[in-house]
Amino acid sequence: MPTTVVWNAACRHHYGGAGHPERPQRFEAVLEALRAPDLAKVIDWIEAKPSGRAAIERVHPADYVSMLETLAAKGGGALDPDTFLGPRSWESVLASAGVALTAVEQGIRTGTAFGITRPPGHHALASRAMGFCFLNNVVLAARQAQQLGKPRVLIVDWDVHHGNGTQALVERDPSIRFVSMHQYPWYPGTGAEDERGVGNVFNIPRPGGLPREVYAHDLIAGVDAALKGWQPDMLLISAGFDSLAGDPLGEFTLEPDDITNWTAAFRERMGQRPVVAVLEGGYRLDLLAAGVVALVRALS
Ligand SMILES: [Zn+2]
Repeated sequence: MPTTVVWNAACRHHYGGAGHPERPQRFEAVLEALRAPDLAKVIDWIEAKPSGRAAIERVHPADYVSMLETLAAKGGGALDPDTFLGPRSWESVLASAGVALTAVEQGIRTGTAFGITRPPGHHALASRAMGFCFLNNVVLAARQAQQLGKPRVLIVDWDVHHGNGTQALVERDPSIRFVSMHQYPWYPGTGAEDERGVGNVFNIPRPGGLPREVYAHDLIAGVDAALKGWQPDMLLISAGFDSLAGDPLGEFTLEPDDITNWTAAFRERMGQRPVVAVLEGGYRLDLLAAGVVALVRALS
């Protein structure tokens, strides 16, 4: 079965300033890798519309969205020491959110989907942009899933950084469970094991430099803990590829094969229920491309 890859060309436009690691070339590298002729048979491409306000305001307060829109209309500016809205970034932010929403719709329709969301989202809080993120794509996706009749949603985040925004947005909501493995202590500083939300948060903080088998095993163990006595209707993956060995922003030691194995293991646990991944980090272009290809192959 092919998997659906959801994209929007405007995700290229966001520009965070010279030398910023979250750069337009990331988007191009992912597209180029997925357009390889040998992948044509496993991918159905779908172009998403940008998100409208209503879907965004399920997660983010209207005055925060208006603040971003106003800043964008003035040509952009800094929101955080490492998070900048460039002249055309708002187009990318809305497109990225739209990609996440459409990926959920497609995943429910066909079983699996991957959304090329850029900018990423898992650090974005309800009313605060940070860590290269403006809107929380994966939580927008979770609310969309619930709107479409999938009340219980499991979010698994394998980006090397803790998805602090995702945790903050779901930690009082038992309909969503959140599993995150991340380097710790590391940016953004959150994600300790005793941060449990209402019993729905499963953090797996780990130091950098461990043998890859340890990380590979521990994320699956975390997912199994979240699945104990609980059946999600849908799985969303915050797929960051900065957890691969050699990424400049992380010190984990994973290989693309681990992405393949994780995806297969999670699909096995979900059976016929939809599995949808959205892109988070990943800052060495060749690793990002290899990780995305491994994920998409394992979703197909
Ligand atoms: Zn990251």
